[in-house]
Amino acid sequence: MTEENIETVDCIVIGAGVSGLVSAARMAAAGRKVVVLEASARVGGCIHSWHLRDAIRAGEAGADFWLELGAHTAYNSYSQLLEALRERGRLDDLLPREKLGYSFVGADGTLQSPLKRLNFFQAAVSLPLGIGKAKPGRSVAEWFGGLLGRGNYRRLLAPAFAAVLSQPADAFPAEWLFRRKPRMQTAPRKYSFPGGLQGLLEALVEGAAFDLRYQAGVSGVTRCEAGYKVMTAAGALACRQLILAVPVDAAAVLLSNVQPDIARDLQTFPMSSSEALGVVLPAGKSGLKPVAGLIGVDDDFWSVVTRDPIPHDTLRGFTFHFRPGRLDHAAKLARAAAVLGVTPADFLHVRETINRLPAPGVEHPRRVAAIDARLAREPLALVGNYLNGLSIGDCAERAATETDRLLALQGA
Ligand SMILES: Cc1cc2nc3c(=O)[nH]c(=O)nc-3n(C[C@H](O)[C@H](O)[C@H](O)COP(=O)(O)OP(=O)(O)OC[C@H]3O[C@@H](n4cnc5c(N)ncnc54)[C@H](O)[C@@H]3O)c2cc1C
Repeated sequence: MTEENIETVDCIVIGAGVSGLVSAARMAAAGRKVVVLEASARVGGCIHSWHLRDAIRAGEAGADFWLELGAHTAYNSYSQLLEALRERGRLDDLLPREKLGYSFVGADGTLQSPLKRLNFFQAAVSLPLGIGKAKPGRSVAEWFGGLLGRGNYRRLLAPAFAAVLSQPADAFPAEWLFRRKPRMQTAPRKYSFPGGLQGLLEALVEGAAFDLRYQAGVSGVTRCEAGYKVMTAAGALACRQLILAVPVDAAAVLLSNVQPDIARDLQTFPMSSSEALGVVLPAGKSGLKPVAGLIGVDDDFWSVVTRDPIPHDTLRGFTFHFRPGRLDHAAKLARAAAVLGVTPADFLHVRETINRLPAPGVEHPRRVAAIDARLAREPLALVGNYLNGLSIGDCAERAATETDRLLALQGA
């Protein structure tokens, strides 16, 4: 195919995680012709709902069961995500999560409530000194340690934040954790969706005005007369505007030709990984009382996330987010069984996957601001969880603002 008759669209979005899909929905709603290219056979990326229907025949008990292997909870402060869902008329389908707490797991297996780990006296002394301090330029350890006291940080907050982030939290930028955002009061405070959070993203795609192509991994990007030429195994496409909605290491590779300086910078953004083990049990098997999740303290896992907030009639599910490279499969099964008070033979279904996330440091938001300044007038947007915070809401917010920037570019 020559350069002239190459398929050309207004915008190509690379990656169909939440960042790519919110961008694509917004571009398409503005009347642009949009193609989304996704490397895998599903939407979601870090949002990965494992369905037993793939292992069990339809109609058999448990065929309707799903368990989150990645992200598990969305909040009504995720406005740009909820706006996209409203566009598709699917807001009423949100599944509220039952209010359940988190417990810490001690090395001896005993469970402890978070409040038991809080020294109230130390918190009362520290709070007046810490409360007015600015977050920018401070790490999580510095800012939250200043707020509640170093001992409280070490005992309570460090393991809790590591459980949230599936990685050590100390050096993480404080300004990227728990930002206040307006809430959509008509939506449940915490929710999932039929089929899990991946079902929510699938709802953004069903009947959407953009064209989503699966198993269309992009291997390279170059400049061309129209704007950008994007290479896949199935051939090349061209677009006037390009949105990269891939993990930071993939973005570094794809930018190497069109923005080599930014690509070199992105290559140095660190990533972390964690090993998820999902296990499914008959509902009555484990004596563990219903709980949203467990927090590991110096354990082989950062956290255990459960299906209990959206209970199922006959099954319970638990996803252990293990630290990378510590345990083999058999040792993970044994550790999971010990925590749940069962034996590995009690697990009806087991699934493993690797999750990857950025591991930003305190200087990270300033580096992103410098990249944004360089791209301000370019028909190219970087969206994803390394640019504005890790949460689904942070990703959706970044996707919306960057898509709006492209839509507003003169001559776009
Ligand atoms: C274990 C875990 C638990 C979490 N829990 C929560 C939670 O409860 N609540 C919350 O708000 N957030 C949570 N998060 C964070 C949140 O899920 C992620 O930060 C967010 O979903 C990232 O979305 P994204 O679209 O930016 O990137 P990703 O989800 O990484 O999506 C990137 C997509 O790009 C595709 N891709 C990559 N390279 C190419 C290529 N060359 N060509 C085409 N496609 C490509 C990938 O296949 C993928 O689909 C969690 C994350 C993890 C890992």
